[in-house]
Amino acid sequence: MTEMIKHHLNDGLLMAYSAGTLPEAFSLTVAAHISMCDECRARLGAFDTIGGALMDETVDVAVSEGSFEATMARINDVPAATESPAAIRSKGVLPKPVQDYVGGDLDAVKWRSVGMGVKQAILPTSKKATARLLYIPAGAAVPDHGHRGTELTLVLQGAFADEVDHFGAGDIEIANEEVDHTPVADIGADCICLAATDAPLRFRSLIPRIAQPFLRI
Ligand code: ZN
Ligand code: ZN
Repeated sequence: MTEMIKHHLNDGLLMAYSAGTLPEAFSLTVAAHISMCDECRARLGAFDTIGGALMDETVDVAVSEGSFEATMARINDVPAATESPAAIRSKGVLPKPVQDYVGGDLDAVKWRSVGMGVKQAILPTSKKATARLLYIPAGAAVPDHGHRGTELTLVLQGAFADEVDHFGAGDIEIANEEVDHTPVADIGADCICLAATDAPLRFRSLIPRIAQPFLRI
């Protein structure tokens, strides 16, 4: 899996994740990629070390017990380096951090149709950003759209292509205001993604625009 991943997290996301400043939906998506990707897990380790060193210098005994526990809890959330991504993956299609939100693997997901065969399931995160699982049937497309904020899309199964590139399992696409795209699932398999957004998308055509408030896309 790891050696096939071409699209990774950027330093900004890894640093913010390490510092614990990302909205929950983004944190979850970053954690899910890290659970699939040795390279980003190693890079995160470096950021955690830098962050820890900075904390040691600036904070002495004043750290409250609560924040220490919160920090330790977050560290424990990151899969141990000894547990290989393959071992984590073999337990199901959904990475462990996502399974914790769904309450199981794919068969536990409560899908809702968004039209054209595409289905979604919104995960229970804080309202600052939205995390959703997307199910795109083989060969089907997500309507053409732009972005008002940041959109992270992590491929969990299958693959999709858009105007930017081709994204396979484990790849993460980071889209912002400058990206307009129409993701199309590969013919070979239904595509399942985890997508996090911090602002509504901008759809080009009328029907998705009308449906948008109901779907929270
Ligand atoms: Zn990576
Ligand atoms: Zn998008």
